[in-house]
Amino acid sequence: MSAGITNPKATGGCLCGAARYQANLKENTAYYCHCRDCQIGSASAFTVAIFSEEQDFALTAGKLSTYTTISDSGRRLDRGFCPHCGTPLIWTGEGFPGVVLISLSSLDEPEAHQPVHEGWTDSAVSWCRIQENVESFPRRPNRDS
Ligand SMILES: [Zn+2]
Ligand SMILES: [Zn+2]
Repeated sequence: MSAGITNPKATGGCLCGAARYQANLKENTAYYCHCRDCQIGSASAFTVAIFSEEQDFALTAGKLSTYTTISDSGRRLDRGFCPHCGTPLIWTGEGFPGVVLISLSSLDEPEAHQPVHEGWTDSAVSWCRIQENVESFPRRPNRDS
């Protein structure tokens, strides 16, 4: 088991409880992703994710399996999930070096962070409405934060 990180601000884990993590989350970086890979890979209409710096994230129990996909832009995206229950937990990739994207839904307190933008709305389903006060991007979001 990892020693963890200093001053974790958030904890979370998978459905079966085998995989647990802690993280210092970046404020105002939670977002919805409507891309087809996230729709299929999350078994939902979209993924909700939040950024953590790589050094601010630690797995504290269990291990993750990884499934790698290649994005439209040709960049590698590694999808980390619990090998026991299949819950998607984190994403890392060439498109966002040094950063771990965490499934907001897997946080112990998902209400603590409100998504501020949505990406890949070009492939969003019409039967699922997102709150209207978020910034929208038809494809890859180009926020600086
Ligand atoms: Zn699990
Ligand atoms: Zn996506």
